[in-house]
Amino acid sequence: MGLVVGQALFHPLPMTSFSKNILWAIVTLIAISLIFSAALTPTKQPEKLSLNQVAEKINAGEVAELRVNGENLTLKLSNGTEAVAQKEAEASLTETLSNLGVDPKALQKVAVSVEAESGLRFWLGILIPTLLPIIVIGIIFWIMFRQAKTGVNQAFSFGRSNIRLSTGGKEKVTFKDVAGLKEAKEELVEIVDFLKNPKKFTDLGAKIPRGVLLMGPPGTGKTLIARAVAGESNVPFFSISASEFVEMFVGVGASRTRDAFAIAKRASPAILFIDEIDAVGRQRGAGMGGGNDEREQTLNQILVEMDGFDRDTRVIVLAATNRPDVLDPALLRPGRFDRRVILDLPDLADREAILRIHAGGKTLGSPMDFRKIAVRTPGFSGADLANLMNEGAIFAARRNRKAVAEEDFLEAIEKVMLGPERKSRVISPKEKEITAYHEGGHALVSASLTGSDPVHKVSIISRGFVGGYTLKLPNEEQHLRTKQQFLNDLAMMLGGFMAERLVFKDVSTGASNDIKEATALARRLVTKYGMSELGPMTFGKTDEMIFLGREMVTERDYSEKVAAKIDDEVRSFIDRAYKTAERVLTDNRKILQKIADVLIEKETLEGDEFYKILKPFKLKLTAA
Ligand code: ADP
Ligand code: MG
Ligand code: ZN
Repeated sequence: MGLVVGQALFHPLPMTSFSKNILWAIVTLIAISLIFSAALTPTKQPEKLSLNQVAEKINAGEVAELRVNGENLTLKLSNGTEAVAQKEAEASLTETLSNLGVDPKALQKVAVSVEAESGLRFWLGILIPTLLPIIVIGIIFWIMFRQAKTGVNQAFSFGRSNIRLSTGGKEKVTFKDVAGLKEAKEELVEIVDFLKNPKKFTDLGAKIPRGVLLMGPPGTGKTLIARAVAGESNVPFFSISASEFVEMFVGVGASRTRDAFAIAKRASPAILFIDEIDAVGRQRGAGMGGGNDEREQTLNQILVEMDGFDRDTRVIVLAATNRPDVLDPALLRPGRFDRRVILDLPDLADREAILRIHAGGKTLGSPMDFRKIAVRTPGFSGADLANLMNEGAIFAARRNRKAVAEEDFLEAIEKVMLGPERKSRVISPKEKEITAYHEGGHALVSASLTGSDPVHKVSIISRGFVGGYTLKLPNEEQHLRTKQQFLNDLAMMLGGFMAERLVFKDVSTGASNDIKEATALARRLVTKYGMSELGPMTFGKTDEMIFLGREMVTERDYSEKVAAKIDDEVRSFIDRAYKTAERVLTDNRKILQKIADVLIEKETLEGDEFYKILKPFKLKLTAA
């Protein structure tokens, strides 16, 4: 995971908002023209008369008022309605009317008024039709231009970092939200103290650390604890993900780095958090493919910036990675990330605490045994546990429960571990039988070996990619495993294969993964753990292929002859496991059959149900 190679992030011109603006301009245009045409068009068009008709109406005494405005005549008739007419431009009104035979006496009864042509109306009449489109087009162009300009600015702002200032904000995280990680917390509290009271330390001649590197597997809370520092420290906390340093254009990373450090320095005392630093901090000169140069330059710039801090620059760089193994040694040199904090996967107590934290905000039914859930989740990271609590709540909601029950969480464990149940997958009765014997074989071999981990669950319901599964968990938290336990593991792994072989005189592809795992484990016993006859020696130097970020090449540092011996030893481990599984299953064939029968009927057996089946048979324990 977490491999970012010359990430191609390109800021496109904001075409979408651009076309949205054009749309708006058009809508506005239509609206404006509608308003104007409504304003300019009188609701009722007055009757239009010819001059002859006007003369007739005057003679008939039907005209009360006559207004002259340039060439336009507006008549107010005695019945209250209005009418309009046009006269010649040059001739005077009275002249025209008398020419048309208007009786002067009749004309005297009409109130004639001459208005100067209204300047405003006149000009508006001319300007609006001609100017409006120009104005509208102008506005559209202006908007387009502005858009284009910000686009160009964005194109040129590559060199600026998208560094964020975390102020805690709404979702302020504090150390209370982080379970376990005691050492990390202590270390970080000290860092915050440094920033607040540097004098206390410098008076004694202590140097303020420059960088703290948080290292740990994914999901162990590195980003979370960094956010908690932001929430607790009361100093400006800037964060950026290292992958954001690297863009499509070469040189951007370096200038962004410079920018990010400059911003942090200006705000000092401050903390600068660089998340997923392995994205740029990989060992230089060892990569392959493109984008590497850019990363190198960015990394160099980070080194330069950190060296450039003088005694009283109160900026502490916090960085996180889950690949400390691939980091460039220069980053780890004193004066750079000289403090290293390791975040481990949570142990039992921490898992319980994490579960409790994430239970907050969920409606829980009846008292919940978080310890029980914690016991069943060895190897889970904080993120897995958070996910588990969420999945449990979703299960409960799907069942229309008012509160989340313990069994919802227990069920969610397997979902998080193996993927969702696939009840819909149709399996034939024959396949179901094979699976039942296979899983029964694993469980039975495990149960009959001295010192092996107890079986917690056996199931033949397929989940994710597996057809069925047997879950065994160590009783207590263990950090070391012994050779005897590995031998038990190997025998148990082959239990499924053996059961199929004994019962059906045939084997299926269902065992392929078991065989692969068993072979890999046996090889590790020989080449890494020194548990074989070849003695305490490691064989093969595993090198990291930087570009792919995972074990790719194992360099052989031993001879052909030793290689053959290694193969022999691996083979003998497998043989031994095979014989153990065979012995156990042949001796207890009846028990195997019983387990398989119950599995076919119930599909899933909890640990206690499984051991209840064994009880009447008085299973004899044996050594692997
Ligand atoms: P990382 O950065 O180490 O990969 P994160 O900090 O992103 O992991 O952790 C992912 C999530 O897992 C967090 O948001 C939090 O919900 C949960 N989590 C991980 N560790 C803890 C912890 N120690 N206490 C509480 N929650 C945790
Ligand atoms: Mg993270
Ligand atoms: Zn199996």
